[in-house]
Amino acid sequence: MTQELDLWFDPAKCLINGQWLSPSGGQELPLSDPSTGACIGAIARGGAADIDAAVAAAEAALAGDWGRANAVERGRVLFRLQQLVLEKVDHLARIEAIDVGKPLKQARADAVALARYLEFYGGAADKLHGQTIPYLDGYTVYTLREPHGVTGHIVPWNYPMQIIGRSVGAALATGNACVLKPAEDACLTALAFADLARQAGLPDGALNVVPGLGSEAGAALTAHPRVHHISFTGSVATGVHVQTAAAQNVVPVTLELGGKSPQLVFEDADLEAALPFLVNAGIQNAGQTCSASSRILVHRPRLDEVTGLMAARYGALKVGPALADLDVGPLISARQESIVSGFLDRGADLEKAAEGVLRDVPEGGNYVRPTLFAGVTPDHVLARDEIFGPVQVIIPFDDEDEAIEIANGTDYGLVASIWTRDGARQMRAAKKIRSGQVFINNYGAGGGVELPFGGTGRSGHGREKGFEALYGFTTLKTVAAYHG
Ligand code: NDP
Repeated sequence: MTQELDLWFDPAKCLINGQWLSPSGGQELPLSDPSTGACIGAIARGGAADIDAAVAAAEAALAGDWGRANAVERGRVLFRLQQLVLEKVDHLARIEAIDVGKPLKQARADAVALARYLEFYGGAADKLHGQTIPYLDGYTVYTLREPHGVTGHIVPWNYPMQIIGRSVGAALATGNACVLKPAEDACLTALAFADLARQAGLPDGALNVVPGLGSEAGAALTAHPRVHHISFTGSVATGVHVQTAAAQNVVPVTLELGGKSPQLVFEDADLEAALPFLVNAGIQNAGQTCSASSRILVHRPRLDEVTGLMAARYGALKVGPALADLDVGPLISARQESIVSGFLDRGADLEKAAEGVLRDVPEGGNYVRPTLFAGVTPDHVLARDEIFGPVQVIIPFDDEDEAIEIANGTDYGLVASIWTRDGARQMRAAKKIRSGQVFINNYGAGGGVELPFGGTGRSGHGREKGFEALYGFTTLKTVAAYHG
């Protein structure tokens, strides 16, 4: 294990019922550094038996101290956990940077966001309440928001800390007990987080982590008959597997499946304000972002100007190892590099407006040059499919109706933004765009822990983040009392 990681736990173990345990099959998976391609250690290859033990531990926590903790106490645990995360922000950032290949400043922003989720959900825990409902004479009717019970969390490799914060944070705030299956390519901060939760006083079994393969530990978790809710972030194909498995047990799922998110730049846009968002939303985390903006739709009168400005930014982008902390790091894996390179090959017929520069990249790392294509038509594969790499296409449009049609012209609908000074156009377009979030004259609102987030179409369903997530992690009970 590389010294640089300086882990205080053994990553080849699962954390079940507050204990660090070797996986029952005794097997491990290699841990590789995306910046160099080097094997830097091993993680646990958990399987169905470990998932079963984790579910049993979660059930015991619900039957014990965690199930008895009231909302104020749950909130306080999350506040203590927030403090521990803040104390370790730089350490967590370093672990994530090495494990996932994120430039250090982006990994640090993720750790800070994790702390903010804990602050938000810690504060919200005792503010979630039901309703009283006027009914027939002689009745008092009210609703109770109750935890589902055992919740399963399947987390991808692109933003482990943020996704754990938004899903596990909301699930614990509402009194569920969690079983977390992190991605095999990015499980270190999940294990670190669960250990900090233990230190913060979260009772044993309330949060269990079982690393392993998606097809083994992940599939076992989604199919487990005693798991009462699944939250999944990842690809459409795996999301379909997850929903199909959950359907056999008739349990609710939240699916967040990525997108092909557009930014619409109208002729009256403030380009100086827009420019950083246009590029950053495409290249942040090397484009491996569910809410990446991979399509830039530009009103024809400003087409050359926008293309020129974006191309100049692209030309200045530097790509290198995570700890060099440049603009763009490596992709997560050789597999992801080959997926993205395949898309770049399929763009050979397009006009390449600009690309970034590789800077001292180690031979075995998973690097691609950020690439901007111009003058792309909406039916091109690069304008339709999610690439999950630092690649953006510029698509021209002639009027507002065409812009909306192109924006709505993919199977996805996660995030969109509109750049215009025209207030009426802002309102019209925001209503007509099919998307879970629409931003006006910004993109992403700085992360937006408080803002409900989720998709339409193949971007998935259910909402995470904000207060809305608390409804998703609870079930509603109606009590109708007749007293005459
Ligand atoms: P997956 O959807 O396969 O992986 C996401 C998570 O699901 C991981 O934790 C994975 O575990 C787990 N998983 C995989 N198979 C199963 C299963 N049968 N049952 C339950 N859980 C499972 O994505 P990939 O990592 O394979 O990436 C492929 C593509 O998916 C990317 O190119 C990108 O387009 C998209 N993606 C989208 C994300 C988003 O934020 N919306 C995030 C990640 C990927 P493990 O990794 O251990 O196999």
